Amino acid sequence: MYQLIDGKRISQEIKDELKEKVAKQGLKRCLAVIKVGNDPASGVYVNNKKKACEYVGIQSLSYELAEETTEEELLKLIEELNTKEDVNGILVQLPLPSHIDEDKVLLAIDPTKDVDGFHPVSVGNLSIGRPGYVSCTPAGVIQLLKRSGIEIAGKECVVIGRSNIVGKPMSMLLLRENATVTICHSRTRDLKEVTKRADILVVAIGKPRFVDETFVKEGAVVIDVGIHRNENGKLCGDVDFDKVAPHTSAITPVPGGVGPMTIAMLMHNCVEGI
Ligand code: NAD
Repeated sequence: MYQLIDGKRISQEIKDELKEKVAKQGLKRCLAVIKVGNDPASGVYVNNKKKACEYVGIQSLSYELAEETTEEELLKLIEELNTKEDVNGILVQLPLPSHIDEDKVLLAIDPTKDVDGFHPVSVGNLSIGRPGYVSCTPAGVIQLLKRSGIEIAGKECVVIGRSNIVGKPMSMLLLRENATVTICHSRTRDLKEVTKRADILVVAIGKPRFVDETFVKEGAVVIDVGIHRNENGKLCGDVDFDKVAPHTSAITPVPGGVGPMTIAMLMHNCVEGI
């Protein structure tokens, strides 16, 4: 029987620990959240982030800018927030409208306030093992593994996906935990041959139920980062859970696996700093 890795419980545990720390130590933390435009999904994410801040005891400042906001205006706001001493985290909700250069915007955030961990300085620090903010979703995966009693050191870990937000930082974090790491991507030959070597398989491919049991070694741990809505409007992941789960020793469900960890780790970054 496999272990169901419970992201809902673990993310709640992390938020409760942070809440207690903030209250006990009287910490003053403030997160500025910027949203540009009317993307409905972004609206939901931003609201969830605000709610989590309230729960943990972090002040949140919300900037909901119109779709037609110019790149210059956005950069100016970031510059102001960079210099505001009482703001210790700045987050720009992605995606941005197409007339704004995302890279330029992320680069404008002061790396000491880069709680999303997307700034090249944060990415560089992660890759050379220096302290810095770490991208929330992959950091959440590491917490899921550790808090479920799954050893990472020495394991064969395979990550499917090489995006800047998930795949690459995920691989660097697993490496930092002393795993042997392989990264697969759209040009990988014989994908299944590689994924079947994995003791821990992390799937961030962005294709609904792509991974079935033929990708997985018997007894592997499978972490599903994907989030999709299926034809019936139900949430599903990149992994075909029903087919894969019986062949694993532990697996994350969707929903209730990696998803809730992202906000918990954002709260962690806001409270703990670099
Ligand atoms: P992405 O589209 O940027 O990257 C997908 C990666 O998969 C690419 O690097 C690509 O090379 C690789 N890939 C595509 N087809 C492949 C194939 N046939 N074989 C091997 N590799 C292939 O996606 P992303 O932003 O990294 O997100 C991945 C998934 O995770 C999405 O479903 C996304 O919704 C989800 N996600 C979840 C959270 C969360 O909080 N749980 C956060 C971010 C992303």
